[in-house]
Formats: sequence, C-alpha cells, structure tokens
Amino acid sequence: MRVDHLLSAGALLCACCAAWAQAPSSGRGDSRPAIVLHAARLFDVEAGKIVTPGEVLVEGERIAAAGSSVEHPAGARVINLGDTTLMPGLIDAHVHLFLHPGAEDMQTVQESVPERTILATLAARADLMAGFTSERDMGTEGAGSADTAVKDAIDAGRIPGPRLRISGNAISILGGHEDAIGFNRALHVPGNADYANDAEQLIETIRKQHKEGSTFVKIYETGTDTEAAGRVRAIPCGQDEALCAANGLGAQTGDAEFWAFHTPYQYTVDELKAAVAEAARLGTNVGVHDQGEPGALFAAEAGVASIDHASQLSGRTMQLMKEKHIPAVPTFTIFEYFANHAPTQAAAVREQAMLDYKIHEFKRQVAAGIPFAVGSDVGPFPHGTQARELGLMVRYGMTPVAVLRADYLNGARILMGKDAVGQLKAGCYADVIAVPGNPLEDITAMERVAFVMKGGVVYKGAGSSE
Ligand SMILES: [Zn+2]
Repeated sequence: MRVDHLLSAGALLCACCAAWAQAPSSGRGDSRPAIVLHAARLFDVEAGKIVTPGEVLVEGERIAAAGSSVEHPAGARVINLGDTTLMPGLIDAHVHLFLHPGAEDMQTVQESVPERTILATLAARADLMAGFTSERDMGTEGAGSADTAVKDAIDAGRIPGPRLRISGNAISILGGHEDAIGFNRALHVPGNADYANDAEQLIETIRKQHKEGSTFVKIYETGTDTEAAGRVRAIPCGQDEALCAANGLGAQTGDAEFWAFHTPYQYTVDELKAAVAEAARLGTNVGVHDQGEPGALFAAEAGVASIDHASQLSGRTMQLMKEKHIPAVPTFTIFEYFANHAPTQAAAVREQAMLDYKIHEFKRQVAAGIPFAVGSDVGPFPHGTQARELGLMVRYGMTPVAVLRADYLNGARILMGKDAVGQLKAGCYADVIAVPGNPLEDITAMERVAFVMKGGVVYKGAGSSE
C-alpha cells in the first residue's frame, strides 16, 4: 500500500513543481532534515474525507507523501500535533492587504503609500498566522504597485506572509467604482483605481500594471455600489421583457424580488473580452468585482476567472458559470461587517437589507450548483479573522466539506496554483495547517488554527517534537 502511494507520489512530482510558475524556490536548498507531521486526523481534499490518523512527510519546501501513515526517514524531525486535523493551508481568494479597519476611503487619502505598505506587511503576517498560506490581493486601493514590494519581500523570505497573487490597483471607468466621488473637486482627491474607459485603455493599463509587477488583473465590472430599489436601472428588465430577453436575463423577467437591487455595469462584453485576452497573453487571468446584472452576465460571457461578491446572478449567468467553471466568491464577511458597523441607523438598515438579499440569492445559487471559491474581502475588518467566511458559507447553505473543497480546489484554480497548493499530496508545496477537532463537524475550527507551515517552514505552534 505504502509502496503504491510513494510511486504515485513520484509520478506527480514533476507536474506539481511547475504549477505555481512565479513562486521562487525557498532559497534554503535541500539541507533541512525531513519533517513528519503527525495528528489525529487529516483532511483528504480530493476525496472530501477525513482519514485517521494523519501524517505528512515534508522534504524541503514540498510534500513528499501524505495519508494515514507515511515513511519516517532516518533523522526526520517528527512533530506530533495531537488531537488536531491536518489541512492544506487556507486560500483567501479576495483580500486587501493595503486596507485596515476604519474609514475605508479616508485611509487611502490620509495615509502615505509607505505607511500603508508597512501596514500591509503586518496584514500579511496576520493572515499567514491565521492559516492563510495563499491569497489573491484584489487591489491596493490607491497604493498602486506597492504590493509588488510586499510580495517580493515574502517570496525572498524577508517577511512572513502568504503566497500572493497581486493586481496593483483595480481597474475602473472614470466616475465609476472607487473614483473618489463626492469630494470637493478643487482638492483633486485621487481615486483608488487605475482608469480605463475602453478596450484600448484596458490593454494599456494591464500592460503598465504588468510592467510594475502585477500577477493578475482586477476589474470593477459594476459600480458605484449596488443601489436600493426605485432608482433607474441599467437595464430595466422588470419592465422591458424584450430587452431583458435580448440580454439572456429572461428567466428573471417579472421577478420583483430578484430585481430589488441593481447596479450599473462598467464594461461591455467586448471590452471585458479584450482584457481577458490581454491577461491570457501575459499568462494570467482577470477577477471582477461584480455585484449584479447585467455585469455578471457580461463577465461570464467574457470568460473571467471569478465573479466576486456575486450578489445577483441570473439563471443565464449561472448556466454559463457552470459550463465555464467560473466560481462566485460571495465575500459574506464584509457584508456582515458593514451591516454591523454602519455609521448611521439608516445605513445599517440599508446594509442589512443588502446582506439579507445576498443570503436569499446565495441559497438560489447553491441550489443551482454553480462553483464557488472562498474570499472574505478582509481589510476593512481585521486581518487574521477572515476564516469566519467559511462558517458563514455553511450557515447560509453549503456543507462544510463543500466549502472546504471550494476554498482549496477552486481557490487554487483561480490563483493559478492548481496541483501546487490547496492539497496535501506529493509534489505540492508543504503548506500545512492544523486545527483542533474535526472541521467537517464544526467548521468554526478553521478560526482556531493551531499550527502553520508554509513551504516547509513552521511559522506557528511547532507542538511537541520527538
Ligand atoms: Zn474587495
């Protein structure tokens, strides 16, 4: 049995080594002794099952073998993690290292980019210590390509932090989402995005960001943020069945509940296709901020990697997401946080209504069987607390095992780390965490990470060694 396991491990090794193309080697060579992690349980992501007990053999920065038992090479350090479950390091597909709790828009005006970069390094450490070993940073919100410095410092081993995909600023239209609307024009308050108003400008902006170190593209496809019912709709499907049908949104025609919230789209399908093609030319992909229709449909048709927030998805859009395997990233934690921390009573009512709507639509999305990934939108709420997102996805309709597989498998796909991260198997990076108890019985165990290893280096809770 063990021989078979090791043979298959060897066969996987080469494919896995190349998967996270931009991650450098640890620079530590292979001189470190092998490590055997032992715990009461191990989560097998592919099988969606807990195995007992659990062991992982770590050689250098990679996993050499994993299962209920592994070879213990002579001289290996054994770390016994007791009554815990060994899991792959968590993946957060939607973070903002350059944001911290407080007035989100004002911090980007009041704080310098050097100050924000220092805070971003602390955020990266907090996220890693909470068990997040891979993250997609969905925009520096006005700090431009300062995320390149943070990523490079982490990759070089100078500071602790997750493996990162970075975008620099998100891309938006003039007067769109995050464009410092409502300030005294004479003050020239800068927006938090890079601006592109058509396909040509999108391509130029993506090239500029790539030159400065970005490793994927973040685009605001809807905005400003979703508005309450009663305002003019971008496409008034509730009233105009022909227009609705022409945009493939016919199934929702006349569904007043579905159209209770709406948001203008920012880019057309052709514009998004140009961005997706340019990202592909550079070997990467596009993630979109998208609260609703018809922007979500345009994004799905253009073939983006993920649709983030995804508060409103039509039947046609969900069908495309299933066909093209485009995950929705619900980001419940930020909606809950804003509902609980609104500055006024009126704002609290509005934010709660948005969350209620989102929960209602999420249940419909789960029933439709679309793929999901896990992203928290951490930044406006404290870094290191975002494992709450997994619990919220369970509370609102998914099973623990489905949420974990969404985090690990779809998270790895959209971060372009498939077969490199998100699994405990030979050839993958030795990104391993341990949580108390059994997370398939109590998903909140993921909020109590007791042990963190990334690339074979222990960052938290080494436990008892033999
Ligand atoms: Zn965000």
